[in-house]
Amino acid sequence: MDDNDEIPPASPVRRNLLLAGGVLTLAAFVVPQLPSSELRDDLTSPADKAVAFIDSLALTQVRNDRLAHTWVRRWDRDVDVLLMTPAPDNLVEDLDDALVTLADLTGLNLARADARVAGRGVFDIYVRTGTEMSEEFGNGLMFCNTHSRGFAGSMRFARIDISEDHPGCLRHELMHALGFTNHWEEPVAHPSMASVLAKHGSPFRSSDYSKWDELAIRTLYDPELPPGTHRSLALGTIRTRVERALESSV
Ligand SMILES: [Zn+2]
Repeated sequence: MDDNDEIPPASPVRRNLLLAGGVLTLAAFVVPQLPSSELRDDLTSPADKAVAFIDSLALTQVRNDRLAHTWVRRWDRDVDVLLMTPAPDNLVEDLDDALVTLADLTGLNLARADARVAGRGVFDIYVRTGTEMSEEFGNGLMFCNTHSRGFAGSMRFARIDISEDHPGCLRHELMHALGFTNHWEEPVAHPSMASVLAKHGSPFRSSDYSKWDELAIRTLYDPELPPGTHRSLALGTIRTRVERALESSV
């Protein structure tokens, strides 16, 4: 993917794009070894933090150790959530609670259903034993997994596998399924920002959606960010959107 930020250098938006991009570039290519190569905390404002957070979780991918910029991936249709296996009552209740929260944050019709309906989005959710997860995904550390498919950024299908031993990964996997592909992890993860998308056991991990997660989800589902919006355009819209949200929350 080609990623040219066609914004004049004098523009403050341009500066901010470089700032957010710089952090990610360091993350991908620099292994800090000397004090002089430590990551600098350039994210001095809540808006800077929010833009870098959303960018690293939803708009950037590392493939074969190269940083690849990408585009907005999200749902733009109703989504039926199908529980494909038996599940413990508390997990079903937790799922229903999480879907109410996510429907509110995204504006999507996102609810459990019993059958597939053509033309609607689908989350298939499987609750598996630890052994089944290991057999399918090949290592003992894989507690849960999400796989999604779409077309030109418009998501159509997601499959979520949850280990019955780790029901706490449900909200993490649901956020992946919404279009947040990446994890919130070092060295990019800012120490002051918690996320449900930090990995299991990470000090940055929150068990429920953090205020940053909520802001990120609302922002990705803003009508001004349709599926397929290229990152170079999306970052400007995201900054405007988060600045407005942060002002109104003061
Ligand atoms: Zn994950």
